Amino acid sequence: MHPFEVTILGCSSATPTSERNPSAQVVSLHDRLFLVDCGEGTQIQIRKYKIKLQKLERIFISHLHGDHYLGLVGLLGTMHLLGRTKELHLYGPAGLKEIIEIQHKYSETYLRYNIQFTEIDTKCTSIIFEDEQLSISTIPLSHRVPCSGFLFQEKLAAPRVDKDLLAKYKIPFEYIHKIKAGDDFTLPDGTIIANNLLTIPPPAPRSYAYCSDTCYLPELTSLINNVNLLYHEATFTEELRERAKETFHSTAAQAAKIAEQAQVKQLVIGHFSARYNDLTPLLNEAQAIFNNTFLAIEGAIYKVPE
Ligand SMILES: [Zn+2]
Repeated sequence: MHPFEVTILGCSSATPTSERNPSAQVVSLHDRLFLVDCGEGTQIQIRKYKIKLQKLERIFISHLHGDHYLGLVGLLGTMHLLGRTKELHLYGPAGLKEIIEIQHKYSETYLRYNIQFTEIDTKCTSIIFEDEQLSISTIPLSHRVPCSGFLFQEKLAAPRVDKDLLAKYKIPFEYIHKIKAGDDFTLPDGTIIANNLLTIPPPAPRSYAYCSDTCYLPELTSLINNVNLLYHEATFTEELRERAKETFHSTAAQAAKIAEQAQVKQLVIGHFSARYNDLTPLLNEAQAIFNNTFLAIEGAIYKVPE
């Protein structure tokens, strides 16, 4: 099975602390790297956790609060200085392209590589990238400014051919692609070997949902139903529920409720307020509702469960 995992680079909300950086994470899927949000200092975290910087092919910015994108211009500059020529795809809400261009204009920066920018409509869900292996779509969230989460979904792979049976029935090599496409095989004596006896079904596709800044949003559940791994912000504990409401954030209990209602397999909570030195109360609060909850810890890798 191909690796599908998430490395947390930052999990602090608003301001960094000595222990926690602002939001950023790398999604690694089938040996491809995607950066999701890019708070200040993300490129230092990328170095610290030995992520291959130039391998990043697409960057997704959820919204234009500084703790989610202020590291971007620095990261783009470093890619340029280190000789990148490969095109980079950047996805974000309206305004992001203008912010980058104005910074490059006044610093007289001319990147060696092209940035392909896709503006996200944060009001609805849509597929923003798709190929034969995966699709990435947006998740509309409710925050003080336009904000979008991202859903990474594997596609169903072709069935694998059982090599032992190929040898047993002496099936010629040139016939393998037909079996992969669903054909049966007829032996010289006319016996038909059904396709399902020659193939191993592919594993069920996995999915990962990144829900960054949002107030408690029960409507989310239909969009992220049954995802294998959910990252949901949990800025506060229930004690500060009113503060969460005012600032369009969620509590750990609310994140857990979303996970429970959407029947996800595993929940990672993050985007913690800098007021919490010890994150145990947030974890306890979430686990009381959804037991399979983990704290986002910087440098930790979360495998998307099967
Ligand atoms: Zn925000």
